[in-house]
Amino acid sequence: MSKVYGNFIGGEWVACQSKKTFADYNPAHTKEIVAEFQDSGAPEVKSAIDAASGALDAWGRMQAPKRADFFRKAAEILRRRRDEAADALTREEGKNIGEARGEIDRGIALMSFYAGQWPALGGEMVPSFNEGRMLYTLRVPVGVVALITPWNFPAAIPMWKTLPALLCGNTVVLKPSSLAPHSSALFAEVLAEAGLPAGVFNMVTGGGREVGDVLVSDPRIRAISFTGSREVGKAIMRKVADRLIRVGLEMGGKNPMIVMDDANLDRAVEDTVVGAFWAAGHKCTATSRAIVTEKIHDQFVEKLVTRTKALRIGDGMDPKTEVCPVIDENQTKKILEYIEIGKKEGAKLLCGGERLKGGIYDEGCYVAPAVFAGLSPDMRTAQEEIFGPVVGVIKVKDFDEAMRVANNIEFGLSASISTRDLKTALEFARRSEAGIVHVNSPTAGLELQAPFGGCKESTSGYREMGKVALDFYSQIKTVYVDA
Ligand code: NAP
Repeated sequence: MSKVYGNFIGGEWVACQSKKTFADYNPAHTKEIVAEFQDSGAPEVKSAIDAASGALDAWGRMQAPKRADFFRKAAEILRRRRDEAADALTREEGKNIGEARGEIDRGIALMSFYAGQWPALGGEMVPSFNEGRMLYTLRVPVGVVALITPWNFPAAIPMWKTLPALLCGNTVVLKPSSLAPHSSALFAEVLAEAGLPAGVFNMVTGGGREVGDVLVSDPRIRAISFTGSREVGKAIMRKVADRLIRVGLEMGGKNPMIVMDDANLDRAVEDTVVGAFWAAGHKCTATSRAIVTEKIHDQFVEKLVTRTKALRIGDGMDPKTEVCPVIDENQTKKILEYIEIGKKEGAKLLCGGERLKGGIYDEGCYVAPAVFAGLSPDMRTAQEEIFGPVVGVIKVKDFDEAMRVANNIEFGLSASISTRDLKTALEFARRSEAGIVHVNSPTAGLELQAPFGGCKESTSGYREMGKVALDFYSQIKTVYVDA
């Protein structure tokens, strides 16, 4: 029997009124239920917002160093439960156990990082034109914050939103992805064990429409931080426009890796493979376009195909696995449809792109990593986010054409260049229309102390992680004091 989790509301684990639950399945063995969760609706969203509203004043008044203390305790608890949390992550999301451990380690590091950020919550003394006047600013909470998260980083993303939100004195209602809510439930357990006061952090599971939509529509929600698809992000933005609240949206990408004539080719190939295929390409920062100069194009493609064909595809629980299963049947279908679209558009499929069969492959959703060549920049396969293990190679004449192709896209999340020339690298960093730019490293990969976020239609303009996240979750109040 799999464990049934309640919603976490007001410090208690509670069942939803309808008593309905839904299952979280293991993508490597799709018949295996990881755990069950409440199939909630409007009554549970209301209770969670009631609890968060009730806890807001006391939490906001608590001194910031005291709030930070809870994160220190949470980090200790999560460190102790690291292997359990990593196993749970791999079982619900599929990614390789090494990557899952890395994600939990990042969560622990986020807790320690934000525990140390309370001094950044100070305001400033401002000189006044008026004699005897004291003029200063305070950083105050925004209020009750709604957090809506996707399935691909089910542990790290809820943490990187929740921690700065709480540190700033807000209270939170989290709605995790229905495809991978287990990691969020473990996070709730960790916060509860750390002694976080009741109502400060609440989690409600259930569908996007039944929970997510109801949550963002409640007028008591004063800020929304959403990570997910562009379609849902835009719908949320439209829905709440009249309320003029803060809406932080982090959405998709179609991230380019430019490979120049002077690149270290083996390294460029490895960076492309890691960026495109690790975690089955289920990363908003995954490499989906390799833009390669003509002189080295054929050599690059040959090496890329050889390396891709040699990748070990399997259950993420096997430490030797390099490419894990796809999250579910729907995503598998979408990826296979894009493979057909690419072929019809005239791109050349050089390897992979088929559903794997036989042995363990029959138990899950496995797609062989695919390399397309001969992509032209305006094809759908070169413009639309596939979110699977597929990379397309686009041949270009030189750096200028590479930049035009890289930027000719509605998204702008991450971009990388492989070159040994410093001038080219710096010019790329300046001209790239992406929010995250790499030189000689994969498009995927981030450090939690640095700002994270995209440009163009990958974002609504805010940044997550690092110190800058505190700007989203707090507001500045200006105080004039005359004697
Ligand atoms: P999604 O389908 O947009 O879902 C994201 C979240 O929104 C889920 O919790 C979902 O709930 C919820 N939701 C769905 N419909 C909603 C509605 N009408 N109102 C409110 N909430 C709603 O995205 P996904 O498939 O989980 O994640 C993949 C996408 O996330 C990709 O596009 C990827 O690029 C993007 N992503 C971006 C970043 C970044 O930082 N830029 C990071 C990771 C992923 P249900 O699960 O219940 O449907």
